[in-house]
Amino acid sequence: MIVNIAYEKLTGYESDHLVGQTTFESLHEPSELAARRGELFDAPTKVVDPRYINGIGSIAYSQESEWTYIRRNKSRVPVLLAFSRVKDEIGQLLGYVGMVIDNTTRAQQQARLWYLSHHDELTGLPNQTLIEEHLDVAIQRRKQDDEPVLLSLIELDNLRQFADALGPSAHDTALKQLADRLRVFCDVHQTLGMIGGTQFAIISTGVRKLTPSREAELLKLITQPVDYMGTSLRLTASVGSSAFPDAGNKAHSLIRRALLALSAARKDGGNTSRHFEFSMQRHSARRLDLEIMLQEAVEHQQFSLAFQPQVNLKTGKIALAEALLRWQHPLKGSISPAEIIPVAESTGLILPIGEWVLQASCKQAARIISRFGYCPRISVNVSPVQFRKQDVLHIVQRALDVSALDPKYLEVEITEGVLLNDTDKSIATLEGLRALGVEIAIDDFGTGYSSLSYLTRFQVDRIKIDRSLVTAMSEARSGDAIVSAIIAMAHALDISVTAEGVETEAQADRLTELNCDEIQGYWFSRPLTAQAFENVLAPLPSSLLP
Ligand code: C2E
Ligand code: MG
Ligand code: MG
Repeated sequence: MIVNIAYEKLTGYESDHLVGQTTFESLHEPSELAARRGELFDAPTKVVDPRYINGIGSIAYSQESEWTYIRRNKSRVPVLLAFSRVKDEIGQLLGYVGMVIDNTTRAQQQARLWYLSHHDELTGLPNQTLIEEHLDVAIQRRKQDDEPVLLSLIELDNLRQFADALGPSAHDTALKQLADRLRVFCDVHQTLGMIGGTQFAIISTGVRKLTPSREAELLKLITQPVDYMGTSLRLTASVGSSAFPDAGNKAHSLIRRALLALSAARKDGGNTSRHFEFSMQRHSARRLDLEIMLQEAVEHQQFSLAFQPQVNLKTGKIALAEALLRWQHPLKGSISPAEIIPVAESTGLILPIGEWVLQASCKQAARIISRFGYCPRISVNVSPVQFRKQDVLHIVQRALDVSALDPKYLEVEITEGVLLNDTDKSIATLEGLRALGVEIAIDDFGTGYSSLSYLTRFQVDRIKIDRSLVTAMSEARSGDAIVSAIIAMAHALDISVTAEGVETEAQADRLTELNCDEIQGYWFSRPLTAQAFENVLAPLPSSLLP
């Protein structure tokens, strides 16, 4: 064995101690070598021509792996070992040539990387990866002695509002202070960690489980004021827990079920704790089912559109028609948009669905025009999520182009939220749409914020008075007054008004008196299939008449 000076420095041995005295594996940490010996000697390595070793050209090391060496002073050093076999002209093994690099820095970096990938950055607590590992180990141990393992997830109730009001540093301060308190709260039988950046996790094993009285103690501890820049703030939290073996024998199922319990505690108004029950799962299973089914519906094009006429109260003509999503599931039958849209919005599926609705509406309008030479303006609902995540202007433009439809046949229905959030971007999009000739309507007017101020900032073409106000109109005088005021205000701002959910002749009459422009509702027509809508628009061909 021949070694150079760098090797002597790294190992602490002088070449006299090594050359002729020992093999190159002698410095390896014995247990590591015993476990991984095959990696060194059995793995195929590139064969090097001996001439290259004498400084001609460079050696392409073909084996490179991390090992531990024992230095002369018995200390350990992580090394990177690269080596190749050397053979003579007839292929006889002459020996090995290798290079040993001190790998301390890299090992330190790896340790650091491991730490970073297993701990929460803000609080330094074990993160979900590590908590899952701890939980699995705890479950394995408890399987033998049949002791329960309890997982409790804790989330501050008002963290969002707190951060919105005081800024992100207040959010961080609250979490750090809570982490410190929980560290004190937990004993040796408990492991504290964090999942998802905002939820604390406590794994309790052995004698001191998180009993109801300990839970009450925990909630009380959290409500103690948090000091933020000299101000004392009061926070509350919700706690959701699940236990092995009742809630499963895998970390991920315990976490999922504790999250369901946490969300139930939040729904109970917060500042409380809930334990997982199977009924919580059934509710979330329906939603999960719906998500999966909806994904399939997008892939297999299970949607269609219904069209509901909006009739003009002066002319009696169908001035517009609203396109409404319909989903016929092959096994479950028709599923209402009221159920579909929130799931589609939260999963992002509203983006492909919304785009399809626009395309299909434009196509239907173009078809009607080609058949009858005219078409009422088609109004399409566009979700606030689409405004936030999609280039709605581009998508509308593309839908119009594909069907070669004049924009004067299209209206986009938005909710007040679109004008109240991300205002600059949304307003630019809406202005772009209006510049094309697409009209903008505010849907469900009267149910949300109903701030009139945004109506003066951005010109909309129409407001659609929500069904609840139309219903209230016949029930109370005040309802009548509200509808009347909305119509007068809209007209003063040069905005047309459609009343939604008109179900009776009396309502239609009253709306005519109040000078409402259009009405939409079961009284005039329910939403119609595309075919029925065409039939309503066109008289029967003479061949079908008696
Ligand atoms: P919306 O936009 O306010 O649509 C009017 C809803 O009221 C429709 O329900 C319609 O069938 C119903 N309706 C109409 N007239 C009457 C009536 O006289 N009485 C009663 N009780 N109801 C009436 P639908 O089709 O179930 O849609 C519910 C909601 O789902 C829609 O409310 C809209 O917010 C959303 N939606 C429907 N299609 C789409 C879509 O393509 N995209 C998006 N983003 N949302 C959609
Ligand atoms: Mg609508
Ligand atoms: Mg509406």
